[in-house]
Amino acid sequence: LNNNNIHSSTKKYLGLFCNDEQFINSFSAKDIEFINYHIANTEERTASIRDDWGNWEFPYTDYDYTKPYVDDLILQHIANNQFKQRQIWPDGKKFAISISHDVDLVTQSSYKAAKRQITKIFVKNETIFKKLKDSKFLLSYVNNLRRLANTNDSIWCYEKWLEAIDKQGFKSTFYYFARPALKDMHKVDCDFLFSDKVVFMGNKMTVAEMMQKMHEQEYEIGVHGSYYTALNSNLLKEQINQVENVIGVPVTANRQHWLHYNINVTPQIHKDAGVHTDSTMGFNRTIGFRNGCSMPYYLLDKNYAETNVLEIPMHIMDGALFEKNSLLLNKEYALKKSLALLDKVEKVGGCCTINFHPNYVSNPDWWWVFNEFIKEAKLRNAYGATASQIKNVVEKALNF
Ligand SMILES: [Zn+2]
Repeated sequence: LNNNNIHSSTKKYLGLFCNDEQFINSFSAKDIEFINYHIANTEERTASIRDDWGNWEFPYTDYDYTKPYVDDLILQHIANNQFKQRQIWPDGKKFAISISHDVDLVTQSSYKAAKRQITKIFVKNETIFKKLKDSKFLLSYVNNLRRLANTNDSIWCYEKWLEAIDKQGFKSTFYYFARPALKDMHKVDCDFLFSDKVVFMGNKMTVAEMMQKMHEQEYEIGVHGSYYTALNSNLLKEQINQVENVIGVPVTANRQHWLHYNINVTPQIHKDAGVHTDSTMGFNRTIGFRNGCSMPYYLLDKNYAETNVLEIPMHIMDGALFEKNSLLLNKEYALKKSLALLDKVEKVGGCCTINFHPNYVSNPDWWWVFNEFIKEAKLRNAYGATASQIKNVVEKALNF
């Protein structure tokens, strides 16, 4: 990447903040170098370190990921040079939130799911003994077996998400995991089928029917690419087809399961599979700005060429707030930290993307934080939209 040139993806990014003719050329070469560097995710692209899940994580960055530092620089430049910031969000809204959900689990207690779990462990060559030492696995296995005696399930109420979100006048995106063949599964992959039975809106139905109902209610149905899809476009395409077969319209929104992502490979995989928006670029173990951006940006392939895949960076994931290997916050602090992040996005007029897993509807603290957060976003008059709606706003602003 020639740092003296403004990359086309950088130009578009800058264009979302100001469309004055003089704006783009008014930056110093040093500033452009900085923005190019981060829009291209160069830091993680050129680093050799990854975590035990194969991911780039917050401890590796030299930058202050708690801030949208690219956006802050742009806003500072606008202020210093008396440019006027443009407002791209509809209806005079000053910033946006993109609510999303990774559907990893549809039932806590199913005999079939328990059977599949056991089969998977044998096929993946793990010793039962090792797995049984893992209390989380044991708990989920016991829960699965309980289905034999019990037809009720504490997470068979995903309509609660729609009710809460509708109440604030927002919509959201549900990324559904579409189970690959066993040979293509990683041990952290999810394990449900679209033919599994759930209860949704008080009625017994299949997962596929629940997806159709969500789609009918104008929620976006995306794909939650399995672990290996980050490296395999045919596998991802297969999973997109599975979701498309259920809802009958093109599926263009994706988030990678486990946030498994390789910046040098995955953008091309997404492009080849027909993905238009990805929202994987965030952290598993903390909240913040993976490359200093709150606004969506066009991803670059391994040759630094712009792709048509719009990254809607993810800033807050439920697990990162609460889990032991993450921030380990209580509900009050989880909300406080999340709203502090929202403040920063609001200040630059960006888009704050949050990811709450639907199965945690059964956890009162997690559910409380979600509800309080979206209530506050509504009070602040945020534009709340699905991934494709965010993309439409961006494309309109850039005159596509
Ligand atoms: Zn997932």
